[in-house]
Amino acid sequence: MEQVSLADFLKQAQKRFALPDNQGDFVEQLLLELEKVCSEAETLLVQQRAGDRSLIACAAGCAHCCVVNVSISVLEGLSILRFINQLDDKKREQISVRLDELWIKVRGLDDDERLAQRKKCAFLDHQGCCVIYPVRPLFCRSISSTDPEICRSAVTSKLYGDSQPLLMHQFQLQLYETLFFAVGEGLNQVGLDGRSFQLSGLVRYLLRNSGNEAELLTNASLTWNALYA
Ligand code: SF4
Repeated sequence: MEQVSLADFLKQAQKRFALPDNQGDFVEQLLLELEKVCSEAETLLVQQRAGDRSLIACAAGCAHCCVVNVSISVLEGLSILRFINQLDDKKREQISVRLDELWIKVRGLDDDERLAQRKKCAFLDHQGCCVIYPVRPLFCRSISSTDPEICRSAVTSKLYGDSQPLLMHQFQLQLYETLFFAVGEGLNQVGLDGRSFQLSGLVRYLLRNSGNEAELLTNASLTWNALYA
């Protein structure tokens, strides 16, 4: 990929998701765009932070940050659903059980309340690895840290009402946060559902209601009550 500026990349991203729902199999196209844009963002990230990669301490097995509320768009939810549906029955069942257990405890909690619960994400395995890593949410991709110990103590200090600064890669944060809004904005522009929901609630809902993906994106029919049930 030729080197592009962050501003251009994000402007183009928004246009790529503004696909009319009468354009053939638009769900397939949107899911493909999501996959492509994530891969291009990775490339951009490598290009932009060449030289300071060693500062980032995030690695498989470290999951101090995987106790927060994560927002995802319906499109990201569909991508995660397809990934889960390719796993074997045992893994799928484990994820489904963990989502049920977690959702009962965290549904309706605001960010501080969710953090206070310190409940780990349903997609973490016993080794502290993300089982949906290839399709993990844009929000999760935005987070980085220079020191796992600071992440751990930042979470703890938040529980006591303190706020501890967390050093993270600002370009990475801005890239994925803005990309998240660009995807939603692109979908909204053509009347598709660009809203976001809590990760565990949305994926749990999709696993239990394997309905029509096109209808879900077109009608914006998903309600909080449906997720809550
Ligand atoms: S989806 Fe993966 S990376 Fe994101 S919070 Fe859950 S386990 Fe962590």
